[in-house]
Amino acid sequence: MDSSVGQAEPGDTAVSGFGRRRLLSLAAVGAATAGAALALRPEPARAATSLAETSSSVSSVAEALEVAKVNAWGGQSNGQIPSSYLVPVVASVSGSGYLRDDAARQYFSMSLAFSNAVGRPLAITEGYRSYARQVEYWNKYQAGTGNLAAYPGTSNHGWGISCDFGASVDQAGSTAKRWMDANAPSYGWNPTGNGFSRPEPWHFDYVGAYAGQPTSGVDKDSDVIVIRSTQALNEQSVGYTALVGVRSLRHLSSIDMINSMRVVGVPYYEINRNQFYAVLSSLGIARASLTQDSDYWRR
Ligand SMILES: [Zn+2]
Repeated sequence: MDSSVGQAEPGDTAVSGFGRRRLLSLAAVGAATAGAALALRPEPARAATSLAETSSSVSSVAEALEVAKVNAWGGQSNGQIPSSYLVPVVASVSGSGYLRDDAARQYFSMSLAFSNAVGRPLAITEGYRSYARQVEYWNKYQAGTGNLAAYPGTSNHGWGISCDFGASVDQAGSTAKRWMDANAPSYGWNPTGNGFSRPEPWHFDYVGAYAGQPTSGVDKDSDVIVIRSTQALNEQSVGYTALVGVRSLRHLSSIDMINSMRVVGVPYYEINRNQFYAVLSSLGIARASLTQDSDYWRR
């Protein structure tokens, strides 16, 4: 076993001493926000009429909590989902770079289509939101010092199925926003923020039904993932995408190649340059292998 790859975590499928979970964790961005001591600001009388970040019609906190249960999945609690149950994505708010598996897959596909159509990467400002952070947002909102925020425990961000997007999607009327309103629904991502009490053009919810964690096929047992560097590499230009496995790397030079990997369920991650290099380094893959049409195997 290569000592540089560390210990396999419980539940790993050991693949040449390198579990899939470990492989995925290399691509993960940051750690979930550690549970902080929570002090929920007392619910003011006016809260019932100002419950926010929902397009459902609710008139009380109790009702909002009831409505929120509709989107519960996997026996998890809102905002308290272990990162191991989520798929890492890149998001600018620290600790929020996670989505539910199906929502993440559809996001990745949508992201590629967005890049092709709009000419820049689709960027997530905030994805998954911990309960602690929701409490913080709610308290600020109630104090009149923060944005619209859902009552803690009722935000779809806490289920890992909402994203607030940047990349000009947050600007009503922009090309990016118009593309998203027209096309995101075909990926299961609806522009629900348009219907909030105070419209949020950047907020989208994934509305596909939860089908459970994948239990079979290449997704569960795979020893390969697809990683895409969102930043220029020293060796290659922006957009270097590679299928990597235990000591192997294959450059995916076309959208068709990338999509064909997705069709068979290979996990896909967009990560930054340093993370990209970190994955290669952990796998013992030389950076010299980052060439156009690379098909590299370290014996
Ligand atoms: Zn949002």
